[in-house]
Amino acid sequence: MADVDLFVIGAGSGGVRAARIAAGHGARVMIAEEYRVGGTCVIRGCVPKKLLVYASRFALDFEEAAGFGWTAHGASFDWPTLIANKDKEIARLEAAYTATLNKAGITIVKSRAVFEDPHTLRLADGERVRADHVLIATGARPHPGPTIPGLEHVISSNEAFHLPELPRRILVQGGGYIAVEFACIFAGLGSKVTLVYRGDNILRGFDDDVRQHLRDQLEKRGIHVVTGNIVAAVEKIKNHYCAHLSGGMAVTADQVMFALGRPPNVHGLGLDAAGVKGAGTGGIAVDEYSRTSVPHIYAVGDVTNRVNLTPVAIREGHAFADTVFGGKPTRVDHTNVPTAVFSEPEVGAVGLTETEARARYAKVDIYKTMFRPLKATLSGRDITVLLKLVVDGATDRVLGCHIVAPDAGEMIQLVGIAVHMGATKADLDATMAVHPTIAEELVTMRTVTRGYGREAAE
Ligand SMILES: Cc1cc2nc3c(=O)[nH]c(=O)nc-3n(C[C@H](O)[C@H](O)[C@H](O)COP(=O)(O)OP(=O)(O)OC[C@H]3O[C@@H](n4cnc5c(N)ncnc54)[C@H](O)[C@@H]3O)c2cc1C
Repeated sequence: MADVDLFVIGAGSGGVRAARIAAGHGARVMIAEEYRVGGTCVIRGCVPKKLLVYASRFALDFEEAAGFGWTAHGASFDWPTLIANKDKEIARLEAAYTATLNKAGITIVKSRAVFEDPHTLRLADGERVRADHVLIATGARPHPGPTIPGLEHVISSNEAFHLPELPRRILVQGGGYIAVEFACIFAGLGSKVTLVYRGDNILRGFDDDVRQHLRDQLEKRGIHVVTGNIVAAVEKIKNHYCAHLSGGMAVTADQVMFALGRPPNVHGLGLDAAGVKGAGTGGIAVDEYSRTSVPHIYAVGDVTNRVNLTPVAIREGHAFADTVFGGKPTRVDHTNVPTAVFSEPEVGAVGLTETEARARYAKVDIYKTMFRPLKATLSGRDITVLLKLVVDGATDRVLGCHIVAPDAGEMIQLVGIAVHMGATKADLDATMAVHPTIAEELVTMRTVTRGYGREAAE
């Protein structure tokens, strides 16, 4: 007889939810975690990142306050205080997650777990556990970067959360949301930031207008964006570094950080011993119920490399538990996942980009507006916001919404509901505006900016 009904490898977003729901359905559950309970999101991802984002925005607030009559003299920032307070909050959250698992009767083993055979997991101390079902929820880890001279001097987002001091100058390599967010965090806190990306523009996969607009905004804020380049070597010179770029430029920095993607955590897991097959994406291959090539083994979250976001991992973990232990087969809908980039200003996006829509639909209408928000008129901040709707010209359905603006993350959560429900442009038009807001433009855009066969004036 098996020791447990379910063995979960990894106590992150997906694993914790799956364990808790499975236990609620009456399963005997054991969960193994090799680092800290809570996983990437809680310990070194979304949550600490957002706390740093909040910290980074105060300088801007102080600056903007002057135009409204405020004098904010003598404000100063202390990095060690921020890091200590952040660590305290993360420890509190970790304890809360642990308490929730304990309360649900789940056995937590603080150990790495690897497959010995399809039903047996081996822990770090050599103990073996037999399980009827196994859930792989091991997440992903920072790509170490290509082998270049001086790679040992480079930090990832993991280390960025624990730097002993705020770097005066930092080079961030990468064009994804993590690279962009950290560039903004450090810039907001006063560091001189160079963002290096090998492609032609940042935020690949996002709408092209958004990519260009955000780049312009970052550059206005003083972030030096260098595209079409990679870091070819990092040289240590006394207590700082010189990064040599492929295009010949040399950048002096106190820290060099790479954020080059996050490969799934499959290495050394014993997947061969279990018979679990990989997917072409580098992750574990699963069907729509998150079932792997082995019928009693499932995988959720970043390790499957589908949509690598916390809410998606949580949904997949929940759906797995309902499917296997709740008698309710549940699939997760991976379309129209709203997402945010906590840059300054923020990006919010849901649904198709203009390029994706034009590839799939015969008639695509674009509604787009760019303007200086009301707050900037007194604050004097040089900022322009962008709101864009991608609409199917044949059915009037809103296929995508893309925003670059303060609080775009909050806005897109709500637009996401409308897009998920299949809202049409007429539905948006029929919705009363909230005035004066930035978001009201979403329901007041009347003119097609670019339509099918009518490259209209912008
Ligand atoms: C800097 C950063 C910022 C992010 N910001 C956001 C954001 O704003 N919004 C958002 O939605 N997502 C964000 N993400 C992504 C989000 O953190 C992940 O999508 C999410 O954590 C995935 O959950 P998961 O359960 O798949 O894996 P994880 O949360 O990574 O959990 C996997 C766990 O498995 C453990 N583990 C691995 N192998 C083993 C083993 N063999 N034995 C035992 N334990 C093991 C790991 O230690 C880890 O704790 C961010 C990520 C990073 C790095």
